[in-house]
Amino acid sequence: MAKVFAIANQKGGVGKTTTAVNLGAALTLHRQRVLLIDLDPQTNATSSLGFDKTRIHPSIYEAIINERPLQEIIRRTAHPGLDLAPSAPDLAGAEVELVALFDRERRLRRALDPLRSSYDLVLIDCPPSLGLLTVNALTAADGVIVPVQCEYLPLEGLSLLMRTIELVRHHLNNGLEVAGLIMTMYDARTNLARQVVEEVRRHFPERCFHTLVPRSVRLSEAPSYGETILTYAPHSAGAIAYQMLAEEFLQRVQVQPELQGG
Ligand code: ATP
Ligand code: MG
Repeated sequence: MAKVFAIANQKGGVGKTTTAVNLGAALTLHRQRVLLIDLDPQTNATSSLGFDKTRIHPSIYEAIINERPLQEIIRRTAHPGLDLAPSAPDLAGAEVELVALFDRERRLRRALDPLRSSYDLVLIDCPPSLGLLTVNALTAADGVIVPVQCEYLPLEGLSLLMRTIELVRHHLNNGLEVAGLIMTMYDARTNLARQVVEEVRRHFPERCFHTLVPRSVRLSEAPSYGETILTYAPHSAGAIAYQMLAEEFLQRVQVQPELQGG
């Protein structure tokens, strides 16, 4: 049965999509069958994997709003083992349309149920808000992965996110856990980056991944080529970091890694 992880932080530009796409790809090297759900109307994960958002139909919008079976929207990607449930710009309307729908917080959870045996891991790339789309992701998830940008002191934003997670756990999904905080865009040369890491580790000592994702130009270039870092720059610091993160992630969430070819 698939374990489901929402990659969430209401702050924009912290590395949610970069982490969803590259961690997703790196996990396939451990023979994990991974489904990446792009739940952001910005469609960045969909484009990052080389899909043209103007040609996506049906998208995750139809699955959530019109109850179209998720199987019908899923696409294979260039990485064997990594599938994508793509987003499209019309998902922007879902935030408003959901308000009036039956069981509005559980639509994604219900859409995912029939597919849970087809994947080992499901990663959900959330939009930068705590609206109903993110609440749907948190309600569907077993764990939350929180990317934290090392260029900005994050504690206020994080406490709001933690309160939201607590509310969802209490009212909608009592199995929800914080799987871990991932420090992204780390530049060891700056005091601020070191300060952010120290502060986040002090506040969430058990929750932080050891792997630091460095600031790397290659990571920011890869999406415009529709490639993950593993094919775009496989020996770069960013590619190595996301592979280390995949190993650490599998140990933490206790999915047994199985090395490819082994
Ligand atoms: P949004 O909230 O808008 O969905 P996000 O949290 O998904 O943003 P990303 O899109 O992953 O954040 O990253 C924001 C920008 O920073 C992108 O241009 C991305 O390419 C770049 N970026 C992400 N991680 C890194 C990194 N480690 N090094 C350099 N650039 C990065
Ligand atoms: Mg994003």
